[in-house]
Amino acid sequence: MDLDRTAEDEAFRAEARRWLAAHVPAAPLPSLETAEGFAAHRAWEAELHAARWAVVSWPRRYGGRDADIFRWLAFEEEYWAAGAPGRVTQNGISLLAPTLFDHGTPEQRARVLPDMASGAVVWAQAWSEPESGSDLASLRSRAVRTAGGWLLSGQKTWSSRAAFADRAFGIFRTDPAAARPHQGLTYLMFDLRAPGVTVRPIGRLDGRPAFAELFLDEVFVPDEDVIGDPGQGWRIAMSTTGNERGLTLRSPGRFLASADRLVRLWRGRGADRGVRDRVADAVIGARAYQLFTFAHASRFAAGGEIGAESSLNKVFWSEYDIALHETALELLGADGELAHDGDGWAEGYVFALAGPIYAGTNEIQRDIVAERLLGLPRGRAPRAPGDGRAEGRTA
Ligand SMILES: Cc1cc2nc3c(=O)[nH]c(=O)nc-3n(C[C@H](O)[C@H](O)[C@H](O)COP(=O)(O)OP(=O)(O)OC[C@H]3O[C@@H](n4cnc5c(N)ncnc54)[C@H](O)[C@@H]3O)c2cc1C
Repeated sequence: MDLDRTAEDEAFRAEARRWLAAHVPAAPLPSLETAEGFAAHRAWEAELHAARWAVVSWPRRYGGRDADIFRWLAFEEEYWAAGAPGRVTQNGISLLAPTLFDHGTPEQRARVLPDMASGAVVWAQAWSEPESGSDLASLRSRAVRTAGGWLLSGQKTWSSRAAFADRAFGIFRTDPAAARPHQGLTYLMFDLRAPGVTVRPIGRLDGRPAFAELFLDEVFVPDEDVIGDPGQGWRIAMSTTGNERGLTLRSPGRFLASADRLVRLWRGRGADRGVRDRVADAVIGARAYQLFTFAHASRFAAGGEIGAESSLNKVFWSEYDIALHETALELLGADGELAHDGDGWAEGYVFALAGPIYAGTNEIQRDIVAERLLGLPRGRAPRAPGDGRAEGRTA
């Protein structure tokens, strides 16, 4: 791992920093879990995109800058340090896009990626079903062949951003007679406003519709929106998840920025030694995660794959995020009870609690680490009915 960057790398970082300093909204945007906030975040994405900062690692023809993974990591550090808004396009750019780069056709990439990059089309992930979370391969929603495409029926749930998003991607059962549950699945994209789609928002504790469940009743999807070959959905879904869980879903820049905010909070308030030590732990943790991610990125850049080690990342950042927010709330004392403490700590804490669940629960990640990295015997839990634990769950 070479941590020395070139003069061009530093110039890239400096350009990003200047642009962000001049453009990041002075006041936080309204929550993207509201119609108003969603629109404001979409407008921010358009602004980022116009200056080619929306998807820096993508090829130029799709709106990117052809930046390598280290420049992308540098950009992320600058982005979060500048206090820039959370990305409403995240599901598209960090989940669907890698899938299209690996398995999509040139026509699909040309059609889908530019509008994804600009925020003109915001994507939701439609994988989970009421009875299929960790055991994703037991999913029951189906796609049935029809002239020129497929008809989707079934129910998806916990689909983040789907209350306001435009399109979704998901896996559907196309061969109910397949020998094993994770065979006979097909990966496809569909329109959330197509006839036959009912989007029912699910409120979270604060009442905002962070998710939606989707009811699908013979929704037509043309053949051009199938990704990869029919029947190959499981392989395609799993192929990109290690990459984004390990690198793109939660980049170190985000936690470095949070640790800096925590230090500022501590400087302003002071605390006893125990809390001060936890502030120090947060700073050390963010740096450790940064270096660990650089090591991953180095292997990736050298042509290696990001595999089961990404489960370590996921467990680390999700538990780290909770600890960091707990420390902040302790520093805030009674003020931390206020949902709007001005710096978003209480809201951040509530969201951090979901970290060990989404992107594949930490129990599942620990099993992956045990079995694939440590070579321990396969686990305790019965695998029926699917033997298809969500090894690569992403959201
Ligand atoms: C904030 C948030 C955002 C989300 N966004 C999306 C989204 O955009 N799109 C989407 O499709 N889904 C999304 N999800 C759903 C998420 O992927 C699932 O909640 C997750 O995969 C767990 O599935 P489940 O809820 O069905 O729980 P279950 O799979 O029923 O798990 C319940 C408990 O049992 C444990 N468990 C299950 N199987 C095993 C096993 N074999 N060994 C050990 N322990 C086991 C789990 O770890 C967990 O603790 C989101 C969830 C959250 C919280």
